[in-house]
Amino acid sequence: MNNACSIEFTKEPRIAYFSMEIGIRNDIPTYSGGLGVLAGDTIRTCADLKLPMVAVTLLTKKGYFIQELDERGRQTEHPYSWNPAQHMTLLPTKISVQIEGREVLVQAWQFNVESLTRGCIPVFFLDTDIEGNVPEDREITHYLYGGDIAYRLKQEIVLGIGGVRILHELGFEIKKHHMNEGHSSLLTLELLNRFKRPIEDVWDEKLVWDVEKVKDLCVFTTHTPIEAGHDTFPYDLVLKIMGEVLPIKVLKELGGKENLNMTRLGLNLSEFINGVAKKHGEVSRNMFPGYEISAITNGVHTFTWTCDSFKKLYDKYLPGWANEPDLFVRVGRIPYDEIWDAHMEAKKILFDYVYKNTGIKMDPDIFTIGFARRVTAYKRADLIFSDMERLEQIASGKLQIIYAGKAHPKDDSGKKLIEKIFAIKERLKDKIKMAYLKNYDMDIALKMVSGVDIWLNTPLRPREASGTSGMKAVHNGIMNFSVLDGWWIEGHIEGFTGWSIGPSPTETNLVDNIDTRDADDLYNKLQTIIIPMYYSDRHTWVRMMQNAIGKNAYYFNTHRMMRRYVTEAYIR
Ligand SMILES: *Cc1c(COP(=O)(O)O)cnc(C)c1O
Repeated sequence: MNNACSIEFTKEPRIAYFSMEIGIRNDIPTYSGGLGVLAGDTIRTCADLKLPMVAVTLLTKKGYFIQELDERGRQTEHPYSWNPAQHMTLLPTKISVQIEGREVLVQAWQFNVESLTRGCIPVFFLDTDIEGNVPEDREITHYLYGGDIAYRLKQEIVLGIGGVRILHELGFEIKKHHMNEGHSSLLTLELLNRFKRPIEDVWDEKLVWDVEKVKDLCVFTTHTPIEAGHDTFPYDLVLKIMGEVLPIKVLKELGGKENLNMTRLGLNLSEFINGVAKKHGEVSRNMFPGYEISAITNGVHTFTWTCDSFKKLYDKYLPGWANEPDLFVRVGRIPYDEIWDAHMEAKKILFDYVYKNTGIKMDPDIFTIGFARRVTAYKRADLIFSDMERLEQIASGKLQIIYAGKAHPKDDSGKKLIEKIFAIKERLKDKIKMAYLKNYDMDIALKMVSGVDIWLNTPLRPREASGTSGMKAVHNGIMNFSVLDGWWIEGHIEGFTGWSIGPSPTETNLVDNIDTRDADDLYNKLQTIIIPMYYSDRHTWVRMMQNAIGKNAYYFNTHRMMRRYVTEAYIR
């Protein structure tokens, strides 16, 4: 075991990072998408930078799910069973949490995220599948985002309350608890109970709960720009499942009057609160007036999200880049033809994968758009098909499109969207070649963000809190063609780092979105700027690829992000 991850690690006070999902490696399916990949990138960067951190998540032994798509694009889901013992070590330590009046045992598996710098971050995967727990309780940590709200609440009890207890039991001294979204907010209740003032010292019973002390120990990052996206639980359910962890009156003051709102609970008990892009900070301040909400824009882990051919290129011209992405500022040293060659190498790897998995042969000389993310209505994966006639007229013979993405098992409109894309793929096949890769995961993500020519993103403003796949793309010299939302508002310089779609992001509410206006701009730019430049001005194209690296990858990485968390959130 790496020294930094040995027993010694409990000696130094640490930041505890709590996340419902963590994308550690592709073959550990304990993530579903952006939130989990961000958590993984955060931890990888902390290991590189040797920051004193420890992470806590759920084991989700049946993973998220494996996506099956039939010839018409109908999705079915299968559990993704994996064997934790192949990857991590089961610790002898056990703690328990109260659920429906039962003492539910929780154990932890340790996985060490090690860096070439010799830094190491231990990650603890909580697991209730233990002899002694009733069958129902043994399943609590099986499915990521599965089950009903009672199931979710039980998971959040294990993550928040169980997480704090297990770190304590292992001997950690924690100076900040970083909640990556509201799923872990119940940890604040455990801390309130842990730091209770003696009743004889206070003049009002409520003051037994040392809110200021707990706030000082907590950091909260919100990721959700709409009200309905926040986890809430009716209090009768809370009482039934969790019991009266705090007097209900006190809990309602901290977690909301009608329902227990996990975001509110996190906000009320955190000294530092942030959104994940500047715009998202603003949207969050409107949604939760009265709170001081900062913004630390997300990033991605540079080394993880750079493909092999670009790694070689950076090693040659920017040695040290992986642990110092600031070096991308000197990207101008890399000759254009070598950037293009590295790109064509990545494009070939993607096209080989597409051929192997779909039987579709794409042409590497044809301009190729990539679109991959969770399939859900607001991301508008079909915006580019708003006017089929126009698309055909602009792009027949000059365009290929590669898609990937899973729809949540309960998201019927998302599933319908996949079927729609499949139908269009069939209809366009002689004019615009399309492929849909099933079972989108981190490996496919890397192939796609490095192997297409441009990264398309068309969310409904302001629903994309940050978005990170576009940041992965720029690490491989791929430009973004995106609606001005999330990170792209900060990364976009028109015609320099990429292109925008639709109007500037002045509005903060949801009403001012007109699909046709966005689609019109998308078609116009494809027709008059992007496609012509790709085929007839390769010099400008590659210069823009260079800008994407020098201006975007330079900034939108987790090394920059974590340095900001350290100076603004952790050390205060
Ligand atoms: C990066 C990533 C995401 C998040 O992408 P967004 O652009 O934020 O939607 C989702 N899924 C996988 C597998 C990823 O690698």
